[in-house]
Amino acid sequence: MLSGSCSRCQGKGIVVDPMGSTATATICQCSVRCDVCRGARFIITRDAARRDVAQRCECENRRLRVRIYNEAQVPAKFHGARLDETQRDANNFDAFNIFTLLAKDYRRHDRGILLMGPPGVGKTHLVAGFLYEIVFRHGIPAQFQDVSGLLKRLRSGYARDEPEELLIDPLINVEVLVVDELAKGRNNAWELNILDTIISHRYNSRKTTIFTSNYTDQRASTLVERVRGKDRMDEERVFRDTLVERVGSRIYSRLKEMCDFVLLEGADRREWNGEPVPQ
Ligand SMILES: [Zn+2]
Ligand SMILES: [Zn+2]
Repeated sequence: MLSGSCSRCQGKGIVVDPMGSTATATICQCSVRCDVCRGARFIITRDAARRDVAQRCECENRRLRVRIYNEAQVPAKFHGARLDETQRDANNFDAFNIFTLLAKDYRRHDRGILLMGPPGVGKTHLVAGFLYEIVFRHGIPAQFQDVSGLLKRLRSGYARDEPEELLIDPLINVEVLVVDELAKGRNNAWELNILDTIISHRYNSRKTTIFTSNYTDQRASTLVERVRGKDRMDEERVFRDTLVERVGSRIYSRLKEMCDFVLLEGADRREWNGEPVPQ
């Protein structure tokens, strides 16, 4: 039976822990046994014509949502990401509210969000919290995917002669997709083609997609990259590419149609955690 006094799950019946590389949800010990259905997983209710009908018990709903969350592959680091008041502050206030509203009133085919801003301000934390909400509030199938991880998996898939559809189709078909670190990497023709395939398919089927990116649509706020050649005498080159310069106008215009662009600025949260910030 769910217990509001359970300190491990705070009465939610679910705990999420880092396991290996992903955040893994399990049913809390306090809720493994269900006193409502006594283990049957369904309950009998009456419909309008006063006939007995079987209805899925809440404990079974919880099990389904645990499975959906675990299939979403949220990185272990973000196992504690939630859209609850304790995680909202002055720095993320507006973006936090936008995600909270979308999660609360989510309907299939809702417009997505492209969350832009410098590294370390909590973009991935926010989208991981959003994913938790739509899975456990609505039972929506979702998938978390960071761009460099996807490209890496594709490359090793080619080496094993695996068709790329095996990796790409689930990303095209899932109801809600979170794409982390859009435009990171070299963005060569092959990489952009992969992105274009996923984005175009989702655009055409009006599926909700959430993106994060260090690149913004403004020169003043986009990521500044300093690159020095191999030779010590080489001069440092400074790049200030905007998102459209990184992904090209075709992908960019799709993104504009699919998503609201939201800027998240503020202090670098990794500094607060005592972790070094890459220069
Ligand atoms: Zn518990
Ligand atoms: Zn039950």
